Amino acid sequence: MIDVVYTMLSDVAVVRGIAMPYSVEGFTIQGIDGVYNVYINVLLTEKRQRSAIRHELNHIDQDHFNKHMSIEEKEACAQA
Ligand SMILES: [Zn+2]
Repeated sequence: MIDVVYTMLSDVAVVRGIAMPYSVEGFTIQGIDGVYNVYINVLLTEKRQRSAIRHELNHIDQDHFNKHMSIEEKEACAQA
């Protein structure tokens, strides 16, 4: 079972903190209900977790889940 360390809710996204391998900062999956499920690695420092949340929310804000762009383009946009 995955241990959820924290959960943040909004109308658009649910952000959950879970432990993941150190190489993974975070990822997002869009549920069939349209809500974005964002998972952030709690093994990172708080600063990097905040940065990872911003990064994932940028993907959502920029509608990357519904746009035909390369992964490289999406990652470059989300870094900004
Ligand atoms: Zn990304």
